[in-house]
Parts: sequence; structure tokens; C-alpha cells
Amino acid sequence: MEMKCAIIDKTGKIEDNKLKIKEVELPKISNNEILLKISACGVCRTDLHIIEGDLGKDIKNVIPGHEIVGIVKEMGKEVKDVSIGERVGVAWLYRSCGVCEYCISGRENLCKNKEFTGFSRNGGYSEYVVADSRFIFKIPEGFKDEEAAPLLCSGAIGYRSFKLTNPTPGSTIAIFGFGGSAHLTAQLIKKLGHKVVVVSRNEKHLQLAKDLGADFVFSPKYGDVYTNLVDKNIENAIVFAPSPIPIMNALKVIKPGGRVVVSGIHIEGDINLDYDSQLFHEKMLLSVESYTREDMIEYLKLAFNLGIKPVYKTINLGDVNSALERLKKSEINGVEVIKF
Ligand SMILES: [Zn+2]
Ligand SMILES: [Zn+2]
Repeated sequence: MEMKCAIIDKTGKIEDNKLKIKEVELPKISNNEILLKISACGVCRTDLHIIEGDLGKDIKNVIPGHEIVGIVKEMGKEVKDVSIGERVGVAWLYRSCGVCEYCISGRENLCKNKEFTGFSRNGGYSEYVVADSRFIFKIPEGFKDEEAAPLLCSGAIGYRSFKLTNPTPGSTIAIFGFGGSAHLTAQLIKKLGHKVVVVSRNEKHLQLAKDLGADFVFSPKYGDVYTNLVDKNIENAIVFAPSPIPIMNALKVIKPGGRVVVSGIHIEGDINLDYDSQLFHEKMLLSVESYTREDMIEYLKLAFNLGIKPVYKTINLGDVNSALERLKKSEINGVEVIKF
């Protein structure tokens, strides 16, 4: 049997290096694995980084996509706690080793031997996908497939970023860049009782931020970020924009003792820090890597209880190349999700 997928032929800029839409053999499962018939898969910026070679140049014959919701069709012999016909989610962390220093200390997101969905393993730009049954997630019933898919990376990474800011209750958090992950994270932060300041160059993104309840929005096109934000009482910041300038601005505007958490898997360009204005006063700069299964379970519950939902548009598998181009040009408001 064959399945339709969008596959990386070689790495290169998306404008002239399209994913190939083709039929390939249905994959086989091993003892701990399951086969899912995919119903929805989100398009994430990490997919774009993989395709363009930002995370390694020799990626080929890989199906991207790691925000997957699907129905269990087949199960390996050792699979437990899931049944045929059940709806589950698969995300970026395909599996971790379970025995390294990170895995045994509750930090499987930093595992030395981890595998990734849609990168070292085939992912969700496809009618079917194989997943490790120990790294799948139950999807709360109130979510449609296409609403749940973006929560599995865009949402979960934002949640972990938020946790890493270690905010005091009611404090103000600034968000730099307002794409898929940020628009979910802004909802979470607001609903948990914080104030949100959003910085973006994109007018449509700023409008969406306002619609989602942001307390203050600002575009660097209007003037200097520091002078306009310094009186906003910003304790912490999360930088979603994959470039150095927002990171440097965020460090300047946060209060003494604050944290800047960078959620991107890849930053284009160098970060040049001025110690006195950007790091002194016990300011902290840190990055986020993936999530642990515990994070994801917490987040899916929270997202359901707080009513967090993506602003999304569904597309067909055949439209994924143009969706990736829109993502690159910041033309997507919210997220785009492949619906099967
Ligand atoms: Zn490990
Ligand atoms: Zn992602």
C-alpha cells in the first residue's frame, strides 16, 4: 500500500526548493510503535529551518511535520495504554533514550540520543506516520483535530518558554515576534493573569495580538524599542522572532532580575551583548529546547481548561509549499494546518 506525502528532496531555500508531493510505501512498525492515519498536521517554522538546511545540510528523503493528530491504525506487540481507533497526538520529540544523565533526571528534552519527528524520522506531511507509543499524547475531546495540532509544538514550546521565565504572579511579560507559537502563548499568559506586551514589525500580527487581549503592542517601525517600552514594567520576555535584534532589545527592556527566553531552534545572525545595559543586574538569557512529556501533558490540560485555541486556516497537503513560503514571509496570521 502507498501513501501520499510531501518529502524533502534536498535542502535549499524554499522559494526554489519545493517539497516533492509523491506516493511512497506505507512504513512498517516495530514493537513499541504505532501507525497513525493522520487527520491534521500543523506547519511549523522548524519545518522551514529543516528544509532550508539551517539544522544540517544533508537532509533528504525526509517527510517533515511534527504537529500531528491522527487515529491509531496498527500497534506493535509491546504497545500499551492506547487502542486501535483512538485519536492521539505526535510531536517533535519522537523518543528519548531513557538512560542518559538527562533522561534519568527529568530532562528528556535534552537527551543525548533523542530522535525527532519530521527530521530524523518521517513526520506528518503525509497520510500516515509511525510514532513511538511511549511518546504520544491523548488529545482532550473538546478540540477539533486542526485545533489540537498546533498545540503540539507551537503551543507546547511557548508553554515551556513561559515556565522558564519563572514569572511572579500578575507580572508583565513581553513577547517579541507574533507568529504561530506567540499567538498561542499570548493567550496562555493572559489567561494566567499576566499582562502582555507584544513587539512585532507586522501590522496584521499586532492587530491579532490586540484581538487576543494584548495590553500594549508596539512596532519598531514607530520608534526605538527601549525608549517606548522601558516604562512598561516588563519583568520577563519571550523572543519568538528568529533574529538577534529582538533578543538584544528584550534584554534591555526587562527589569533587573528578569529573564529573556528565546524559543527559536535557530537564530540567523550574531548576538552582540553590551554587558552593562543587557546582562548586568542579574538579567538572564536562556534558550528553550523542545519539551518533556510532562510539559506536554500539563499544557494540553491547561489549554483545554483555559480555552486556548489557535487562529488557523486549513490547507491541503498539495498547498504546503506555498504555506511554507507564506510562513517565511510572515504572511500567516496565526497558523496554517494541513487537513487530510
Ligand atoms: Zn536520554
Ligand atoms: Zn515545531
